[in-house]
Amino acid sequence: MVEVVKPGRIQKGWSKKFTCTGAGNGDHGCGAVLLVSAYDIYETSSTVHAETDYYRTFCCPQCGVETDIPTKDWPPSSFPLGKRPSDAKRKRIGEGNLKRLETEGAEGEHEQP
Ligand SMILES: [Zn+2]
Repeated sequence: MVEVVKPGRIQKGWSKKFTCTGAGNGDHGCGAVLLVSAYDIYETSSTVHAETDYYRTFCCPQCGVETDIPTKDWPPSSFPLGKRPSDAKRKRIGEGNLKRLETEGAEGEHEQP
């Protein structure tokens, strides 16, 4: 086992702020600003005319909508990707969001600092 003589910096891993826009998935994101880590991002793909395009996608924990991130913002390939939440899980998040609408909807937007 290697011995640490002098501790180095703390490895924070990869994370980036993204806005839930629903880009590539219908554009119906809720606008939440999210700190997304590499483990929250997963690969999705679409095949058109026998050509498959691959995307890096995250699922908004607030509304369940998926957003594709721009290629320039992809995590380095050295980071492992996460798993896509199941349709059922995303549906649950969406239903939770509707409940939120019932309880907070009348009060309008809530801004987080
Ligand atoms: Zn959202």
